Amino acid sequence: MPDSFNTLSHPGGRRLKLAIVNGILVTQNRNRQILRDNLLVEDGVITKVGKFRDRVDDTLDATDCIVMPGLINCHTHVSMALMRGMADDLKLEQFLEKTFSIDALRTPEDIEIGAELGCIEMARSGTTCFLDLYYSQDVIARAVERVGLRGYLGWAVLDEEHTTQKGKPLANCERFVKEYADSTLVNPVVAPQGVYVCSDDTLMAAKDIASRAGTFCHYHLSETRREVYDYVRQKGLRPVEHLEKIGFLSKGDVAAHCVWLTVNELKALARGGVSAAHCPTSNMKLASGGVAPLPEMFDEGICVCLGTDGCSSNNSLDMFQEMKTAALLQKSSRWDASVMPAQKTLDIATIGAARALGAEREIGSLEPGKRADIVVVDGRNPAMTPTRLDNIVANLVYAGPSKAVRDTIIDGRFVLRDRQIVCVDEERIVDGAASAVNRLLSV
Ligand SMILES: [Zn+2]
Repeated sequence: MPDSFNTLSHPGGRRLKLAIVNGILVTQNRNRQILRDNLLVEDGVITKVGKFRDRVDDTLDATDCIVMPGLINCHTHVSMALMRGMADDLKLEQFLEKTFSIDALRTPEDIEIGAELGCIEMARSGTTCFLDLYYSQDVIARAVERVGLRGYLGWAVLDEEHTTQKGKPLANCERFVKEYADSTLVNPVVAPQGVYVCSDDTLMAAKDIASRAGTFCHYHLSETRREVYDYVRQKGLRPVEHLEKIGFLSKGDVAAHCVWLTVNELKALARGGVSAAHCPTSNMKLASGGVAPLPEMFDEGICVCLGTDGCSSNNSLDMFQEMKTAALLQKSSRWDASVMPAQKTLDIATIGAARALGAEREIGSLEPGKRADIVVVDGRNPAMTPTRLDNIVANLVYAGPSKAVRDTIIDGRFVLRDRQIVCVDEERIVDGAASAVNRLLSV
């Protein structure tokens, strides 16, 4: 193994000059070009797309491979990877009760090992960046930096009477946002959990922290019909109507789920500049009943992105799988196979998601000047065969290519190379996660 491999791979190491050659580039640029070409990465940034003769420190041969921007998961609870398969096939109330009872027992070590596990799962399935909602984001940030993912980490904020956090959620959040203001891979976010646990004062204080820190708010919104009806009984208005009335909706916010919304509420979200993170698998598995109105969201000009939600309600962080589910759910529920084409679906998991995070200048496509968040998929994997220029996007969305992900590069560094996780000891994490779960279940 050459020396440059370790240096290039390690999060703390100097990023060297890397050429990715002979690949089929799914650029996701403005014209959605697909090119047979090369990529040059220097100091974590894509500097050239095309032919070049630069001397490089390392070359990645991508012959017969698809080179694409990393997928962006816009709603998850990464450390709940530890709770995979612990609360299945239950009615929502029982699901929440079981999830919260296990969650309340978790130590910071459990949260950290769960986050590492989730980050590895994402790197292995082509996700390079994610938006998280949870408490203890300082612990999760350590795992994110160690594995090498790009994390938008939203510290959960809610009324003190509802929280299990030590200390005051708003103060905890503000401290975290300040602490990570200058980090490269960790982008701190403010995450009011949902209107059902946040008073108007809490919501507005959260918005204030976000605007002072130059970040945004991420929250659950109108996931279940019951939550909406309860809110109408309590406030006399639907959630989005009330949030607009109190001046909470802000440009750049990302609202997860957005299932039970009226057209007027969609118009209010569009006016407010709020993006919608669609979580189809979670919605179906928890039997939320409705289907998020994606075509109407597009019509209103809302920026739509895609999320897996946590592993307790999905039970996977695989964004390739999520793209397929999103497309099929819209087609099936609208009786229209053309309503959610593969290209549109890939867009909401890449460049559209980058726009939702306010990061479309940095990530989401393979273009000179963008950070090098790149995934290489083996086009000779049986699941991806035949791969031709005219069916690549369909294969990426419908063929389930996560099993063919060969390399994952984030901010110019290898996190996965030739199917090996390179920055952390994967076996230690898998073993550690298994023993943490055994401990939790024996309490
Ligand atoms: Zn969620």
